Amino acid sequence: MIYIGCHLSVADGYEAMGRTMSRFGGDTFAFFTRNPRGGKTKTVSPEDAGALLRHLQHERFGPLVAHGSYTMNLCSAREETRMNGLSMLEQDLEKMKLLPGNLYNFHPGSHTGQGTETGIRQIADALSRVLKPEMKTTVLLETMAGKGSEIGGRFEELREIIDRAGHSEKIGVCFDTCHVWDAGYDIVNDLDGVLRRLDDVIGLRRLKAVHFNDSKNECGSHKDRHEKLGQGCIGMEAMKRIALHPVFDGVPFILETPNDDSGYISEIRTVREWMREQS
Ligand code: FE
Ligand code: FE
Ligand code: ZN
Repeated sequence: MIYIGCHLSVADGYEAMGRTMSRFGGDTFAFFTRNPRGGKTKTVSPEDAGALLRHLQHERFGPLVAHGSYTMNLCSAREETRMNGLSMLEQDLEKMKLLPGNLYNFHPGSHTGQGTETGIRQIADALSRVLKPEMKTTVLLETMAGKGSEIGGRFEELREIIDRAGHSEKIGVCFDTCHVWDAGYDIVNDLDGVLRRLDDVIGLRRLKAVHFNDSKNECGSHKDRHEKLGQGCIGMEAMKRIALHPVFDGVPFILETPNDDSGYISEIRTVREWMREQS
């Protein structure tokens, strides 16, 4: 079985997100550690974080998947942007100390013309600066669609970042189904082949989270436009096969589909239905 949930707004605090997700019928969730457009971080009280941790335990939630800001780019050609990214990453990981044992996912970055090799080196350098052996957060590199100069559209790129960064026991991967498909991995006709590739290149033990999205575009389009479950080019049958694949057993699945609350509630219900049918 998998854990299922969606993104929630941190605006009302941590414990409120736990309660909302229980109301939605889910047992994991994602939240942006700061305003998605960047900017200042909201201060969280240890009391609020403690209340959330109790809720997670009591309701048997899976690991949470915090998401770094989209504006964080650890491999921009502009030094100022890179330094900004590094300090966002540091602050975010500091905040994650209040939620030990959970996951922090981010987009590796866009090299903005410097080339893939340089991009990979800069991302790895940033990680090697902030990762500490005593950390209780696992940092996840998200698989990307390979749009523009994005790093992470190929499993090999993520592997290289992990190898270069050191502290590799603190690094995992978040498998975004829309991104992987858009990047050219055919999870509809050859899911097992793609997962074998992921295992060969990165290792399945690093697979810590899934972003569960259908895609508006064809395999290999490099577009990155999410779609509701079953309404895109991946389709319901393939989405169901992914959710029920043994490789993902125990992994938190986060919906990032274009939905309002009632849409998420219904998608969560669908995924739960699949799990019930199977068991
Ligand atoms: Fe993402
Ligand atoms: Fe994603
Ligand atoms: Zn995306």
